[in-house]
Amino acid sequence: MSRYHLSDQDAVASALPLFSEEVAKLYEGGKSLSQLAEIFSASRSTITRWLKQTGTPCRPKNGPKPHIVVACEICSKEIRVLPSAATRKRFCSRACKHADTGKRAIGNRYRAGIAPSNKGQPGHPAWNKGLKGIHLSPSSEFRKGHRNCRAVSVGTERRRTDKAGKPRVWLKIAEPNVWRHRAQIVWERANGSIPRGFLVHHENRDTTDDSLGNLSLQSRANHINEHREDLEAARAIHGIARKSA
Ligand SMILES: [Zn+2]
Ligand SMILES: [Zn+2]
Repeated sequence: MSRYHLSDQDAVASALPLFSEEVAKLYEGGKSLSQLAEIFSASRSTITRWLKQTGTPCRPKNGPKPHIVVACEICSKEIRVLPSAATRKRFCSRACKHADTGKRAIGNRYRAGIAPSNKGQPGHPAWNKGLKGIHLSPSSEFRKGHRNCRAVSVGTERRRTDKAGKPRVWLKIAEPNVWRHRAQIVWERANGSIPRGFLVHHENRDTTDDSLGNLSLQSRANHINEHREDLEAARAIHGIARKSA
């Protein structure tokens, strides 16, 4: 890949001082005759002539490779490196390299406020890209602002069976999905909020009869006594059932 196209000889002649200086600079920076010939689309002897014109001494063939001098990023000590390694070689010693790592990391994690050098670069997406919020089925989730077609309005009543197998009526009290026992709502409308440790009891044992006269407030301790007979009967049945099984 050539950067310069020198087809016209006159152009070459007029541009010569400019090019020869640049060639000299690149040669001193470590480029070889062949590399320069490739860059300037000239023969190696032309490059040699340009170098002579600028008074640049040629390196001996098969001699030691040219080094350039860079400063250690930690202690600023000068280090001689091959031009090809100039961007890689940043420290004079292992100690300085470790000092640099210690500045930027704790163990194998970056310190707070230190960003990885490739952060935000093309081809380096963040590990948590697209993971914000809970997306259990991204392919079929609702668009923002769209509602489930089965969603019901506030005030809807639904009969569900509780853990003990008793039917209860639930009332939707708020969007998007807030439900409470209808019995509690009925009692609270008449008497104010239910105190902590208390619950609403159905006097006639019909757990779907939420008329106000059927509801009473009970502490949990009292309530267990209220239902003790029912519980003992149920346990007796359970015990017999277990024995027979
Ligand atoms: Zn150093
Ligand atoms: Zn009860």
